[in-house]
Amino acid sequence: MKTEQPTSAVRTLVFATNNEHKLSEVRDIFGSRYRILSLSDIGCHADIPETAETLEGNALQKVQYVHQHYGLDCFADDTGLEVDALDGRPGVHTARYAFADRHDPEANTTKLLGELEKKSNRKARFRTVIALVYKGELQFFDGRVEGTITTSRRGTQGFGYDPVFQPDGYEETFAELGVEVKNRISHRARAVAKLVEFLGSQPA
Ligand code: IMP
Repeated sequence: MKTEQPTSAVRTLVFATNNEHKLSEVRDIFGSRYRILSLSDIGCHADIPETAETLEGNALQKVQYVHQHYGLDCFADDTGLEVDALDGRPGVHTARYAFADRHDPEANTTKLLGELEKKSNRKARFRTVIALVYKGELQFFDGRVEGTITTSRRGTQGFGYDPVFQPDGYEETFAELGVEVKNRISHRARAVAKLVEFLGSQPA
């Protein structure tokens, strides 16, 4: 007997990441109408190359890999921290800022604080680009949050550069504010909100 699908069926999408912090942030933002699968959920354990010179290019590499190898609707994000006093660095090299061959968040933060030691302009922004392959079509969404780099680490929540990034309008860093506030104002939250709006406008 054929089973009828409920009209408000939960949609499934792959988020091309295995970063548990990002997954949890994004699942919170999507809510229960979407089932968000990680790379390991679909059995993908490859180290997908992120060798482009732009955030858009890296996000595209990740979605194309998943689409080509698994044929699934998928989105991927890439985030850069752009620091004004460093002419926009680390930018697309944010993940491998301290060491070109590996991602070491502690060392990245230490390097950033060191490079800004004598700088009075500490303005910076996080910028996220999301690439989406949906029903064979490619779309991009972006989000940014302006803020300043603090002079030392503060807070224990979040990940990456969260302990040294203080968003404009707040006295606390992302690591002090915690996930509830971060998920309202962050670069990724803003990009994901655009993605959710787009998906909501598409026929199921
Ligand atoms: P990617 O998007 O995973 O490539 O992230 C690039 C780099 O930015 C990594 O070093 C992350 O730790 C850092 N990053 C990305 N998103 C955030 C965030 O929300 N807070 C702090 N650091 C982040």
